Amino acid sequence: MIKPRIAKREVTLHILRAFGLHASKRLGQNFLVDEAVVDGIVAAADVKPGDTVLEIGPGIGTLTQGLLEAGARVVAVELDQRLVKVLAETLAGYENIRIVHGDILKIDIPREMATATFKIVANLPYYITTPILMLLLERRVPATLLVAMVQKEVAARMAAAPGGKDYGALSVAVQYYTSPAIAFTVPPQSFMPAPAVESAVIRCVIRDRPPVALTDEAAFFRVVKAAFAQRRKTLANALKAAGLSPADTASLLATAGIDDGRRGETLSLQEFAAVANAWTAGK
Ligand code: SAM
Repeated sequence: MIKPRIAKREVTLHILRAFGLHASKRLGQNFLVDEAVVDGIVAAADVKPGDTVLEIGPGIGTLTQGLLEAGARVVAVELDQRLVKVLAETLAGYENIRIVHGDILKIDIPREMATATFKIVANLPYYITTPILMLLLERRVPATLLVAMVQKEVAARMAAAPGGKDYGALSVAVQYYTSPAIAFTVPPQSFMPAPAVESAVIRCVIRDRPPVALTDEAAFFRVVKAAFAQRRKTLANALKAAGLSPADTASLLATAGIDDGRRGETLSLQEFAAVANAWTAGK
């Protein structure tokens, strides 16, 4: 079967006109119109025949088509009912596709996937990028790899090392659950309509086990939250602001071997873990 590629400006325009559709800003609809970017995402996800892929927000099927052509079985979750109808036509003839009409934040992902493990590939709707990422990671959906188009600034935050302005609670969370790396950046012209921001594709290899040993995971994330809630304060002051007594703060930083003049944004995951473990031990 030879199908015209959807990832072209004129084909996308034709599909939208044929269905009398306008991209919905509210739902973050910016359709890819750049074949090289679709190919780049498929390559970053190393999609091979036999892979099962969860695609979030297939839109009119642009990236879905690339995944299917690479031999994947795809489960694609789309919120916009109008696009579910479009997908039935644009992807007609492909066998290994199942479109699920629903909200990725609400559906039962393991049940829909019905497979032991899978990859997640998405050109994400930017208005809910962080909630989607956090839901996928915190629920520990059984995926091995996440390849996502996000705003360039978000990609920088996800992959940031300690010490810089991009390093924050999102960096720590993403790096706790995955090993992230920016694959490539994407200009606004690769989309229709063009978004106001630059984008980047981030590739996150999901870890089998966390990179740090914790006695209490919730305590780790409480410390991280407290540290970044008060970015300009030292970690000691941020912990006090979060309710710890000055004496407890001093002793737990000493136990963790962290200088009390350090700011939270300079701490590595290992150092946050040491603080959290000292805190848990002292409780
Ligand atoms: N994958 C297509 C592409 O690359 O051209 C479209 C990507 S567009 C940036 C984001 C898509 O996510 C849109 O189709 C939008 O309707 C869909 N979407 C928005 N919110 C969603 C949600 N909560 N659950 C599932 N899909 C959603």
